[in-house]
Parts: sequence; C-alpha cells; structure tokens
Amino acid sequence: MHQLTLAEIARGLADKKFSSEELTKVLLARIAQLDPQLNSFISLTEDLALQQAKAADARRANGESGALLGAPIAHKDLFCTQGIRTSCGSKMLDNFKAPYDATVVAKLAAAGAVTLGKTNMDEFAMGSANESSYYGPVKNPWNLEYVPGGSSGGSAAAVAARLLPAATGTDTGGSIRQPAALTNLTGLKPTYGRVSRWGMIAYASSLDQGGPLARTAEDCAILLQGMAGFDPQDSTSIDEPVPDYSAGLNGSLQGLRIGVPKEYFSAGLDPRIADLVMASVEELKKLGAVVKEISLPNMQHAIPAYYVIAPAEASSNLSRFDGVRFGYRCEDPKNLEDLYKRSRGEGFGPEVQRRIMVGAYALSAGYYDAYYLKAQKIRRLIKNDFMAAFNEVDIILGPTTPNPAWKLGAKNSDPVAEYLEDVYTITANLAGLPGLSMPAGFVDGLPVGVQLLAPYFQEGRLLNVAHQYQQNTDWHTRTPTGF
Ligand code: GLN
Repeated sequence: MHQLTLAEIARGLADKKFSSEELTKVLLARIAQLDPQLNSFISLTEDLALQQAKAADARRANGESGALLGAPIAHKDLFCTQGIRTSCGSKMLDNFKAPYDATVVAKLAAAGAVTLGKTNMDEFAMGSANESSYYGPVKNPWNLEYVPGGSSGGSAAAVAARLLPAATGTDTGGSIRQPAALTNLTGLKPTYGRVSRWGMIAYASSLDQGGPLARTAEDCAILLQGMAGFDPQDSTSIDEPVPDYSAGLNGSLQGLRIGVPKEYFSAGLDPRIADLVMASVEELKKLGAVVKEISLPNMQHAIPAYYVIAPAEASSNLSRFDGVRFGYRCEDPKNLEDLYKRSRGEGFGPEVQRRIMVGAYALSAGYYDAYYLKAQKIRRLIKNDFMAAFNEVDIILGPTTPNPAWKLGAKNSDPVAEYLEDVYTITANLAGLPGLSMPAGFVDGLPVGVQLLAPYFQEGRLLNVAHQYQQNTDWHTRTPTGF
C-alpha cells in the first residue's frame, strides 16, 4: 500500500479497495519502523491523522469525492499547525505551538487531506543539506551516508522512502527542487504569489513560496490544486484563477519550444549530469519538442545577489524572535539586553546567526546602496533575461543541481560550497518564476534531477511537460533499496 501514488490512492479510496483509516495506519506503522534511520519527521500527529482519516471516510460514505479526500500527507515544519509544535527546525521554536493553521494547512485539511506529521528541515529553511536542523540531519534514503538536500529535506526523504505519497515544502532559493532532485522526486516551486504564505514562517519574504513534493508530476498537480489560490490574508497573494492542473497533464508537446541556456554548461557542472540533461532533451524531442540554445547572461550574478537579499530579509524577519514574544528564552537574564543576546545566541544555530549578521550588515547605513540596492538591481537584470528568453521559448530546461547528493558533513566547513549547489535554482526565486524538478537518471547510484522553468503562472505547462516525460521514462518509478 505504501507504494501507491496520490492518484492511485484516490482511485483506491473511490473504489472502496481500502479506507483512509486503513491506509493511514499502514503508513504510521511504516514511519515508526523506518524513520529512525532517516530522521525525516520532527513531530508525528497520529491522533490527528486517525481523526482526519475517519472523517474523510465518513465524507466519502456520504457521497463526497475529491482527489485529496483521505490522502495522507505531511507538512514541512514551518507551516503553522494549530495546537501542534511548529519548530522551523530551530531550538528557538522548539516549544512553539502555533495558535492557528497556515492557509495551506487549512486548505488541504478542508480538501480532506490527512496530516501524518511535521517534517524535518534546515533551521529556518537556511541550507541545502538539511544538516542545520536543531533536530539533527536527515539521511538520504538512496544512501544513508548522504544528504537528502534541503531545506525541505525531511519532506523529500519521507516521500522518497515511501513513508507517505506526498508532502508540502517551501522554496526560497531551491528548497523544493534541490531536495527533489537529490532524492528522485518531482517537486514544484510555484510562481511567487500563487500559494499563500500566510502562516508560513518567513525566511526571505520576497522569495519564499510553498509547493508540493511527490513522486510524479500527476501527484504534484493534485497537491498543488489543494494549495494554490488567492488569499486576502497574504498581501502578496495574486488573485489569478487556478486552472485544473490534472486536466492539463495530457496536452501534446508537439512544437513545444525548449530553451537550453548555454551558461548552464559551465565548469561547475558534473559532466555526467550534463549528459543526463541532454538525454532528457532528446526524450522530449521524440515527443515533438523543438530545442533552441538561449542565453541568460546575468546568471553568474545570481548567487551573490541572493546571498545579500535573502539574509537581509531574514535579518529583519527573524528580529521578532527576541525571547519576549515567541519561543526560547534564556535562563535568568540579568537585564533586557542580556535577555535579547542570550535568547538569540542560544536559540539560533550557527548558520542562522551567520545570515542574520550578513543581512544586518548589508542593510546598515552606508552599506545599503553598495550591497542591498545593487543586489536588487541585479535581480531586475535576471528577470529581464528571463523575459527575453520567454519571447523565444516556452520552457527553459537544464540541470537542477550541479552535483548529485554529497556525503553528510562533506561541506560543513565551507558554507559557500553549499551555497553554490543552488546555482540553477536561485534565479527562479529572484525572478518569481515557477520551476519544477523531475527525476532524469542516476550518477553513482544517486538520483539526478532536470529542472524546467516557465513563464509566470504556467505551472500547468511544467506539470504537462513533466507528466508526458514520465509517461515515456521510468526514472521516477525507481525505489531506493531497503524502502
Ligand atoms: N539553500 C538556499 C539557502 O540556504 C535555499 C534555501 C531555501 O530555498 N529555503 O538559502
């Protein structure tokens, strides 16, 4: 039963082959048995899950239907869940029970999804390896000595290990697409504004976006359908109709114009990944696509610009964690300043502290123009590059990451080496564009992802292309040994 996709679960529930309660019990038992190896969950919500599963079964018995009605999922632990710990992977929020549900959580619950738990993540979503979590690193089910990617590494590892069919994640610079690539999943970062950020603990507000992680594009379509839509509570949410993503999966790719940026094939890219990227292009050509070389000339500036903008926003967003209103407070503070200093010094881990310092520096008087303003200008140039490219092509295709997963600890002494892993994903966040990563082969037994980018609000196009590719390839069906 644990091998079923969301689409298969929906059919099985509709055909009364099993109930949501039965399925939920099977998956909870599987999590209890296998998750100690992976550490993909921070909290399990067994009671809530069984209650939601029974309610979903009752709704089906009353004639209701829906692809998510009774479907087991989990939420990255930065989506607020009422009455349930929402830790953001940090000691700072280890004791924080959210007083309300995030819009994404509420929407999925209303659609009948069953929440099995909250998944592990890099602290405050800062990282690409899931090693910065206060709750310990997550292991990659493809090789337990390797990282699963981050920051949505818990969601990715759990879904890849068939502990559940799908989970939510968030992506500020690649945190859905990069762990999807490193664990052989399909993951989608929607257009900025497509999915509500209300109740999603902020890292860098102008870049953060929630989205689905699943094994297939078909399942990403189902989960995104439940997440997307206008939310008056989020001032950056966009009031744009949500198409029927599942209905759009079978469009023909005849004449689809794929752009492959020449800048993607630079020295940093593992040549074996370059070969798999080109093999995926050949596959799509067989389905009728035409390929064109394009250029994204400002791509080289993306990582430096991101590592000014994201820490700047983070330093501001994280100032609310002061030991007074939320979360951790140090023991026996001597005075107010000591309370602030020690609560933040003890509550935040080293990567979060590094970014707060970088961000506060970049925003300070005298440096603002040189760093923050400059980075914002680069951001516009990157967006302009994409706008020009999308005049010529329908989607942009390339690697999701320059390398496959690396060994736990391998990049710990060199944060910049980890930052460079996001070279292909970060531009979509800077421009606000939707991006998807899909399984496209293996290097040394480790999964490799191919990334597709599309114009604003063309999530449906990404899902359509990935679904057609998955109808003709079987990379996404491969299962890690032992799971
Ligand atoms: N790895 C990037 C960072 O550390 C992106 C993380 C994310 O998308 N949340 O900031």
